[in-house]
Amino acid sequence: MSIGMAEYIWMDGNVPTQQLRSKARIINSAGKDTIELKDFPEWSFDGSSTNQSEGGSSDLILKPVNFCSDPVRGPGNFLVMCEVFNEKGEPHVTNTRAQLRKVLDAGGAAHEPWAGFEQEYTLFSGRVPLGWPDKGYPAPQGPFYCGVGQDQVFGRELIEEHLEACLEAGLMFYGMNAEVMPGQWEFQIGYRGVEQDNPDILNCADHLWLARWLLYRIAEDYGITVTLDNKPVKGDWNGAGCHTNFSTKAMRDAKTGMKTIERAIEALRKRHDQHVVVYGDGLELRLTGLHETCRIDEFRSGVADRGASVRIPQQVQLTGHGYLEDRRPGANIDPYIVSARLVTTICELDESLFTHKPAYKQMSLLVEHKS
Ligand code: MN
Ligand code: MN
Ligand code: MN
Repeated sequence: MSIGMAEYIWMDGNVPTQQLRSKARIINSAGKDTIELKDFPEWSFDGSSTNQSEGGSSDLILKPVNFCSDPVRGPGNFLVMCEVFNEKGEPHVTNTRAQLRKVLDAGGAAHEPWAGFEQEYTLFSGRVPLGWPDKGYPAPQGPFYCGVGQDQVFGRELIEEHLEACLEAGLMFYGMNAEVMPGQWEFQIGYRGVEQDNPDILNCADHLWLARWLLYRIAEDYGITVTLDNKPVKGDWNGAGCHTNFSTKAMRDAKTGMKTIERAIEALRKRHDQHVVVYGDGLELRLTGLHETCRIDEFRSGVADRGASVRIPQQVQLTGHGYLEDRRPGANIDPYIVSARLVTTICELDESLFTHKPAYKQMSLLVEHKS
């Protein structure tokens, strides 16, 4: 190998939903057979341009924490996921990956948690979803989900290029489909049962961020905008979610599986409010009780029930072990935060470990509902 580029990727301080930023530097791998994480040096950036500067000093540190090959620039180039640190060497307040590390280090990791994310998203051309007429609406929902044909699905070329890029990068991409609303799609990231996969929940969440970055980046070349908005079109159109499939070692074990899954659901029921307030901005617009969702102020669980908050898949019920599907997270979630929240509740860790406070709108709505 020789001189290539490393694209450093991090989460900014955008409110209410943090966005991705990235910049590139050369990486000299001459004389090396393989590249390791330690080959990527720390780097700095201007926090005052990303809504991340605190007080006088605006220089913040990018610390590489995960990487993969860069399928856009090709062999010898890399995508590098980074955490943001302040000048004192502490995790920056926007560094939500540090929150996940904290709960894993405090006992979560011993349960060997895994996660699989079903990322829904919507493509836009200008101000309308891709494939929609400039004025008015397309035909009502019905034929588009998993559709085929140029009048049924929109953006196939981009979606296929993204899929290929994720596989080439070595991300744990395991599937995709066209969604219920035209212009809406889904891809999935998580453990595939493939030997080289690392199902560690931290790695799963890193892979989702990297796959999102690739989607935004590749869509640039098509003149298409990607949005993770929970409810990109108001009215009788499906919102976009990020169902999160979660398991611990005991849930995957045939001897302890169902008992542990049931206990996990009871723990989730008790802390429903603490979960929905960190499950993405504007969640109340998506969790209405319609369009295959359960209302934001209710908690329901069930086997194969797509109107539930938490679903036990049919196959899991039959075999007596596996995982549960949390159907509440919105498309715009931070997977580090949702993972940290699930680990804290399901692994029954001390609640004081979860300190993250997002500025999502549903916070105030839930407070009103309780009063
Ligand atoms: Mn799905
Ligand atoms: Mn879906
Ligand atoms: Mn699902």
